[in-house]
Amino acid sequence: MAEVYTIICGHVNCYIVVENENAILIDTGLKKYRETILKKCRELNVKLIVLTHGHIDHCQNTAYLAKILNIPIAMSEKDLNLIPDNKMQPLFAKSLLGKIVLLASLSSMENDHLEVFEPSVFLNGGDTLSEYGVNAKIVELTGHTEGSIGIEVDGNKLFVGDALMNMLYPTVSLIYGNEQSTRESAHYISEAGDKTIYFGHGMPKKNRKWIK
Ligand SMILES: [Zn+2]
Repeated sequence: MAEVYTIICGHVNCYIVVENENAILIDTGLKKYRETILKKCRELNVKLIVLTHGHIDHCQNTAYLAKILNIPIAMSEKDLNLIPDNKMQPLFAKSLLGKIVLLASLSSMENDHLEVFEPSVFLNGGDTLSEYGVNAKIVELTGHTEGSIGIEVDGNKLFVGDALMNMLYPTVSLIYGNEQSTRESAHYISEAGDKTIYFGHGMPKKNRKWIK
């Protein structure tokens, strides 16, 4: 059974999933936290960086960590266009909290620097990470971005990136590129059974029905 280490980077999380001597880093957090993340990655022998999607708050240390640790970066090919410019995929929001989150996100995309990196592993739904020593399977959770993915570990933990969020309360993603796909992804998670949901933002929760 894998162990999960959570590194809270202000409003966003990254996670190290450890199984025996192997580990993967899920998302890379914000620049301010890079030394803490690097230290933990070294301690736990992280062999791969997996990005749930290409937004800056989930990727800001990717270039730095991949270079220093000399490890590959894995993500969906469908989010590659976000690396040079996070605004390549438009975002929308409906609720008041969603609109506030959207404004904050757009401001960060405008003002914060995302150092360009080159993924060498492209992940699709159904792929496994067994060659990195971790019992993990990729699920496609498109909607928040085109290339949003989830990582299911041991069948009972699901890292959802921003497909769901737990900022003030747990909910379907408050901001999205495609609302319908976001709802379909939330429906998929709802039907995925008994699992702990690890969000990109906020504390974990038990899985439940995410849409009515
Ligand atoms: Zn995002």
